[in-house]
Amino acid sequence: MAENKKLYLNKAQLKAEVDRCLNCKTQPCMQACPTHCNPREFIEYTKNGEGAKAAASIIRDNILGQTCGLVCPDKFCMKACLRAKLDFAINIPKVQATILENYRQNEGEYQEVKENGLKVAVIGAGPAGLAAAAKLAEGGCKVDIFEKQNCIGGALNLIPSNRLPKEVVQKDWGYVFNRKLVTLNLNAEVKDIKSLTADYDYVFVAKGEPHVSSLGIEGEEYALSYMEYLRYPEKYVTDGKVAIIGGGNVAADCAFTAKMQGAKEVEIFVRRRSSNMRISKDEYMELVENNIDVTSMTSPEKIEQSGSLLDLYVHKNEFVDDKLVPVKDTTIKLGGFSLIIKAIGGKADSLDEEEKIIYIGDCKHGASTVVEAVASGKQAAERIILNQKFPES
Ligand code: SF4
Repeated sequence: MAENKKLYLNKAQLKAEVDRCLNCKTQPCMQACPTHCNPREFIEYTKNGEGAKAAASIIRDNILGQTCGLVCPDKFCMKACLRAKLDFAINIPKVQATILENYRQNEGEYQEVKENGLKVAVIGAGPAGLAAAAKLAEGGCKVDIFEKQNCIGGALNLIPSNRLPKEVVQKDWGYVFNRKLVTLNLNAEVKDIKSLTADYDYVFVAKGEPHVSSLGIEGEEYALSYMEYLRYPEKYVTDGKVAIIGGGNVAADCAFTAKMQGAKEVEIFVRRRSSNMRISKDEYMELVENNIDVTSMTSPEKIEQSGSLLDLYVHKNEFVDDKLVPVKDTTIKLGGFSLIIKAIGGKADSLDEEEKIIYIGDCKHGASTVVEAVASGKQAAERIILNQKFPES
């Protein structure tokens, strides 16, 4: 499949990529990974033809290993990779995704786990909730997941399928779901979190969905939030012009989606330099290949309705003493947009934490990457399991 060829390496490419690994003793790639995946180890296994062991190494550290391999930005392991000092960093995420696509062996990895007596509810089956549930079950907790949608994945379902085919999350989860201590309840919205504390030792809250930050401009009500757009793109199909405000992954996702839905022109407006965008080089190149314009050092100032279309007023920015400031008298009106999408970072809710209620993922930390959400869920679960095994005296 042409799409898959782009997402994964072929056999020769995988060999060429793993052969470049320097087997660094200090393992900066592992240190830089929020879930502490061990690229040196899984690359070494791959070099030795032990694909199943390589796959098991990845999953041990990250239950959403293939998902993360496909969507991780290059600011973690790749940024730390010492191979970049010789030529360019190893494409660790792609290597990781390719290993799991080709060499994972579900049955061989099944483990019976001994119960530790703890019962935990996990609200939300996005990356943080799934990671927490898997780790809790691995540690012997009985886990009930409550997901209000009819499928797992949470915000992962907002990522366009050309970046993350829908079946990949299911595949990742399928690998751990046969742990018999986990019960997944879909279409199960929890309205009263506190009430669950009567039946469970802990309640993990991973409901994601941080609030979309405000642009603070006149006419903001005409801009659509990225969550609404990515969740229901079919409601907003247009063959006209689309403006996207923001410089991260969700902005790129909105742009790709608008193009796939038939938009004639798609333009991303970024406050800072295009080199400051929180997307990988590959994603940036994909924007270019898809004729998506990136207008940098530009901020929105006002949105106005003009008939059935929208006008966007923007001004240029400049750095003065490392501070981003508007450049005087540079405001211009750009007209004729069918859609203006607000794709700027989300903010965390204010949380009502208590001993038995543990918030994880985006609802605790604000909008983050998938791998950071996985790490948040995994680490919170590890703390519970450690406390259980080694209670404080
Ligand atoms: S830093 Fe790069 S070269 Fe070194 S072990 Fe990790 S992947 Fe290999």
